[in-house]
Amino acid sequence: MSAPVDLGDVQVVDNHCHSVDRRQGHREVAEWRSLFSESPDCRMRTVEVAESVFYRRLMGELALRYGVDVDETTVLEARAELDATELIRRLFGDAGIGAVVVDTGFPDPTSALGFEEIGTAGGCQAVGLLRLELVLQELVVRCATYDGLLDAVRERLTGCRDKGFVGFKSIVGYRTGLDVARWSRTEAVASFAAARHEVEAAGDVRLGHKPLLDTLLHVAFEVAAAEALPVQFHVGYGDPDADLRRANPLLLRDVLEEKAYRDMPVVLLHGCWPFVREGAYLAAVYGNAFLDLSFGIPFLSRQEMRSVTRAAMGAAPTSKLMYSSDGARVPELHWLAALDGRRLLGEVLGELVADGDLTHSDALRAGEQILRDNATTLYGLAGRR
Ligand SMILES: [Zn+2]
Repeated sequence: MSAPVDLGDVQVVDNHCHSVDRRQGHREVAEWRSLFSESPDCRMRTVEVAESVFYRRLMGELALRYGVDVDETTVLEARAELDATELIRRLFGDAGIGAVVVDTGFPDPTSALGFEEIGTAGGCQAVGLLRLELVLQELVVRCATYDGLLDAVRERLTGCRDKGFVGFKSIVGYRTGLDVARWSRTEAVASFAAARHEVEAAGDVRLGHKPLLDTLLHVAFEVAAAEALPVQFHVGYGDPDADLRRANPLLLRDVLEEKAYRDMPVVLLHGCWPFVREGAYLAAVYGNAFLDLSFGIPFLSRQEMRSVTRAAMGAAPTSKLMYSSDGARVPELHWLAALDGRRLLGEVLGELVADGDLTHSDALRAGEQILRDNATTLYGLAGRR
């Protein structure tokens, strides 16, 4: 067993996470459990999830933290008196979270804290990401003509840094697949007509019209490339709304090959799990591809997160890897991920030192890059409040 590298002093930059629900104080065990499952199946969310290694670990760690028995009702009782702000203050402080990059598209902003509130409560820097598909479908509802829509998209997305965002996030992997293609104008206009039909019938649209969505994403990528703005992609693991057969990062080849997009950093989220080796490969060969290593969601065992970290570090330069939690709705996810991420990364770095791959000072620097420095640079966090 090799000696782990101690990263205890490194404040993490959580490069991809979500906000926390305003309402905390959960007392219903079934409701609490459902926060830790991506399954739409009621029995999975409320019964089977309690048998997952992730959940057992989470509850064990929370019982330790609150000094109570490992019993769900008792643990919930111990946190129930604390409101969202107080939970964040305590947990973020304990976990050494220095900055958070928050995807503002989920959970619903009407029931969640704004990213500025997270920063204030957590005593950390907090910045936002703009979720593209939500903006695009809102503009499809508003624009009656195809050309008007293209102009509106370009206008809304241009200069987002000045509007408080440090990047875009795309969930096209959840919608029509990562194989974002080029479509003829005729195909895109027909697709727009279908989307507008939905708007007229229902007053709203869920943008799952591939020729239209792909075309609008290309507009977004042009803006991102012109402004060197990072774009995060949901890749791999998610609820079954994401068809895993269309969420392999290799499907992004056309986007990564596009010369016009070379200045657009592409961040492949949550280790692309289970396609981690594909993600590591892309980060190793494309100058603008980065691999996010998420230690909160997917809901994995420590052993599996260790192997994800090993696979990523085994192939990709450490300058292309970034820590995240992907935590959402309860701050316990952001908290446990930071503690686990720092520790597991330290262990894997220790193995690399023992193998003679890295010196101890190389390993320490790599730990700082992955936990903090790469994201600080990529999202322009230094000197920004
Ligand atoms: Zn996420």
